[in-house]
Amino acid sequence: MALRGIDPDITVLRDWAPRIALVVGQALHPAIVSVLRTLQFHPVVVSPDQAVSVVRSLGPTGFFLLGADVFADDHSVEAVQAWHRASPSARVKLVCPAERRDPDVLLRALRAGVTDVLDPDDRDACETSLRRGMTAAGAARERVLAIGAHPDDVEIGCGGTLLDHRMRGDRISILTLSRGAIGGDTQQRVTESGATADALGAQLLFADLPDTEIDDGVRTIRLIESVIQRLDPTVVYVHSAHDNHQDHRAVSTAVRSAARGVRRVFAYQSPSATNDFLPTQFVNIDETVRRKVELLALFRSQDGRSYLEPELVTAGARYWARHLAASARYAEPFEVVRSVGELRHSVTSPVFEEASQPTQELTVSPVALHAVPPVIASDDNGPALDALKASAGAPRTDPTTSTSGELAGAS
Ligand SMILES: [Zn+2]
Repeated sequence: MALRGIDPDITVLRDWAPRIALVVGQALHPAIVSVLRTLQFHPVVVSPDQAVSVVRSLGPTGFFLLGADVFADDHSVEAVQAWHRASPSARVKLVCPAERRDPDVLLRALRAGVTDVLDPDDRDACETSLRRGMTAAGAARERVLAIGAHPDDVEIGCGGTLLDHRMRGDRISILTLSRGAIGGDTQQRVTESGATADALGAQLLFADLPDTEIDDGVRTIRLIESVIQRLDPTVVYVHSAHDNHQDHRAVSTAVRSAARGVRRVFAYQSPSATNDFLPTQFVNIDETVRRKVELLALFRSQDGRSYLEPELVTAGARYWARHLAASARYAEPFEVVRSVGELRHSVTSPVFEEASQPTQELTVSPVALHAVPPVIASDDNGPALDALKASAGAPRTDPTTSTSGELAGAS
């Protein structure tokens, strides 16, 4: 498949995975399903008991739409927070008809991080709220482009970081510039890349430059430029220039030209990196290192390559974590090719860690409710919750004074 605006010599082999909305318990309602389909979300309906395992197997979800039955008791607050930790970029909404709103349910929902209450009998209001949530979530999403010379380069160099982006709900594209003919059967290698792209929920683009003979000239630069212009990435990952493999060096050099307008470009470490590879940025991959090993196991055509051995992959990540001291056990290293502008989108910004700070200590009192706004003070803070907070004695949230940035992505 070709993509409009991208060089015709680049093939799109996988597009992004469909966006998922998890509908839990009594939230299932024909109007809700209809709105989700209108917004091109794929609704997945589960019981509260299944929710956590489904989130873990499906990957990040755009919305949690929760029925009132989810909040039957106080344990529900912790359960919903656990789901949210597994998919921190999801927007969490309660679906409950206006005439059946129980104050206990609403308070538990508030404590659990619900940002709006949808009345399924008011389809237009539901659509407005979900659209607002999509806009906010989209604004908080990174557009990630990882570029490699051969199949498996990107996954080896920054697979843990890409899995971390996926967990945050970011949009990932992988561009591979050759089909790796020297390292094995090209069809098998492309198929394996497709499997890893599926695991990452990533879009997969392939060029067909000659393996071991990639140059850093205008043709390579133009190919990469066309992808960058189309995808407008907020961050690019690419080979380091400090590498013994000529293809890796060529791609690194070409990307420096092609990505000259991208504000953040980071260089990952390949097994062929030289001792001059000198990283100064490190991404904590504690949450993803195990899945990175599983991801690399999908490259079966490369069985026997020592750099794919789980022991070496984890030992390398363990070594680089020394730069993060006690805050990480595993890390991926990056050289900074370019990082300009605000730090808000820094790849090391602890979006997930902050989002997962336990909030169980909140109790239902006006004082505690006052402590809640960093979670509920989101773009899509609904009138129902404002009314609830007012009735509980808490001040109405002023969006202009709320914490934005990281926490906005967490609600
Ligand atoms: Zn390579």
